[in-house]
Amino acid sequence: MNKTNLGKNSSENENSRPSNYRLNAPSLADSHYSRQLYILKAITLLAIACTLPLGLLALSKDQSPLSYTLLSIAFLATLNYVLILTKKISYALATAVISYPLVLLMLYLVAAGGVNNTGSLWIYSLPVVILFLHGLKKGGAILCAFLLAMVWILFVPDNIFLHTVYTFDYKARLILVFILDATLTAAYEYSTENLFGKMKLLTEELSNIAEEDQLTQLRNRRGVHYHMERIYAQEKRDDTNMSLIMCDIDYFKDVNDRYGHEAGDKVLMEVASVIKNTIRRTDIAARWGGEEFLVILPKTNEKEAYLVAEKIRKNILDLLITHEKYQIKVSLSAGIADNKHTSSVDGLIKLADNYMYEAKSKGRNITCPTMFYY
Ligand code: GH3
Ligand code: MG
Ligand code: MG
Repeated sequence: MNKTNLGKNSSENENSRPSNYRLNAPSLADSHYSRQLYILKAITLLAIACTLPLGLLALSKDQSPLSYTLLSIAFLATLNYVLILTKKISYALATAVISYPLVLLMLYLVAAGGVNNTGSLWIYSLPVVILFLHGLKKGGAILCAFLLAMVWILFVPDNIFLHTVYTFDYKARLILVFILDATLTAAYEYSTENLFGKMKLLTEELSNIAEEDQLTQLRNRRGVHYHMERIYAQEKRDDTNMSLIMCDIDYFKDVNDRYGHEAGDKVLMEVASVIKNTIRRTDIAARWGGEEFLVILPKTNEKEAYLVAEKIRKNILDLLITHEKYQIKVSLSAGIADNKHTSSVDGLIKLADNYMYEAKSKGRNITCPTMFYY
């Protein structure tokens, strides 16, 4: 659960992806957070709705300690609600402000008896409130502590906190039904948390599928754009270089036409594998389009990028692809660009793309710009 200020939505942190590159479905974390916030508000409102009228009623009947206790909690809950609405309190604090006074109120009602000795019946609302607000682990611990305190108040002989009289049967049933209530609520909370965990895994898996090219196992255009924005911003902040290599297989249509589409697919897979094995682990390769590949080189200037592009180009030239009875050879044309010549990611991609087309127009199987050629 997001423990930051209620005003900060989890999708607004600096690592979040630009919205135009996110999946259209709302983020699961955001939905989970909205649900928790909704429950917190509902429980706070319910606490006001129960404690305020009962507190006023107790005041009219001159039941001072009970009325003051209930009215104090009503005041605290109202303040909490206003702070939640105005987003001036963290989720963790708002949860603590509403739940711990309720736990103390329940112990007070058990010990004092409340109106006509019926106050102890309110304890059955506690498991829902505590487990929904704190989750299974922490909520379970709070409920166990509450149960122990209740057993101590009710069953330790001559307890100074117990100000009323219950029969042994009533006390035993009160405890047993409370345990049943807490167990059923915990089972519900467990299944919800379990379902949420599975949905989280599934969402991550779907997101990976959406951002990965199934043929080459490289990132696809959607998957690489986020990294490019992030690295570009980082290098700009550090005033360092990053470079891009845009490369395209030469006369790839001929490969398909001559050897078949399956052979074309195999070429794409092998070229992707050569690119991946040529670059460093910190570099990122992606399939940009049909037979176009993009490589992001962080902390790399234009001259170093040229050397990497040439290494890739030469490794591809050495590659012999066997498909059925055919031995296929291909070449690459590459364009490079570094961030010092551009002011945006789109500008950087465009520059690398332009150089790649220059390489095509110069006869293919080269890297442009050629100023570093020697
Ligand atoms: P150039 O040297 O100018 O780049 O010529 P080219 O033939 O490589 O370029 P062109 O754009 O004319 O053709 C690209 C071909 O790539 C056409 C398309 O059918 C093929 N292609 C795109 N995606 C795939 C794919 O996933 N598998 C296969 N087998 N072929 C693909
Ligand atoms: Mg091509
Ligand atoms: Mg192309």
